[in-house]
Amino acid sequence: MKNLLKKLSPLFALVMALALCFSLIGCDTNCPYCENDPTTLGKSSIWREELSTTATCTQDGITTIQCANCKRTTQIAVGALGHDWKITKDEATCLKAGNTYYSCNRDGCGETKNEWSEASPSKHKWVKTGSRETMTEIYTDYECSVCEETKTEKTKISMGSSIKNTQEEFYYATGAAIQIVKGQLKYPSSAKFIKESQMEVHKNYSGIYFIEGAVSAPNAFGVYTDFYFIVKTKIRVSGSKFTWYDFDCQLEEG
Ligand SMILES: [Zn+2]
Ligand SMILES: [Zn+2]
Ligand SMILES: [Zn+2]
Repeated sequence: MKNLLKKLSPLFALVMALALCFSLIGCDTNCPYCENDPTTLGKSSIWREELSTTATCTQDGITTIQCANCKRTTQIAVGALGHDWKITKDEATCLKAGNTYYSCNRDGCGETKNEWSEASPSKHKWVKTGSRETMTEIYTDYECSVCEETKTEKTKISMGSSIKNTQEEFYYATGAAIQIVKGQLKYPSSAKFIKESQMEVHKNYSGIYFIEGAVSAPNAFGVYTDFYFIVKTKIRVSGSKFTWYDFDCQLEEG
């Protein structure tokens, strides 16, 4: 008898398992639409019915899918949706801090947050107000349209390449410079120029010559003073004749 029970026990276990199975999900009715698992139903299947979706901006939800045929259900976790931010901005300026306002568009959420951005001098809105040119520099003035701060930028005028003193035009240039400078001195005949070979002559791409040098000449009080000069001049060619004309001349007591 004991042996017989031992032999029958696997069969008994099987019968018990089947009974449990029938009572829970009805293994006898095999559903041809979902194959007993509603998650296998396609998204647009007419046999799929979604019963609930409860995900919010910040919390995961659960979607219950039911097979319309066999009424089996399965649950799928749905990730939190995240906030649907509506953003408005007050831009920061050179003087005033900025603010970015976020508010969630989703019904029932009401979440808001702010982000500050600091005022920064790098946010000046520069508007050019004027410019002026000296012999060697261009000055450009700007004013900030927000805070009215002003600044001036200085750029060096390119004097071009240096001309060697062996060249003919070097002598024309230095000779012309001497004439032009003399025209500005009170006692031109008593002016003593440094040697022409020591003058610096540059020519730029627009054909303008820059001649730098020094002259010792009487000042307004008749006292001999060293002047540094820079002459900006052009050349006019007429046949074989070169004419230099005064373009600009700067004399500085030094
Ligand atoms: Zn089904
Ligand atoms: Zn939200
Ligand atoms: Zn400013």
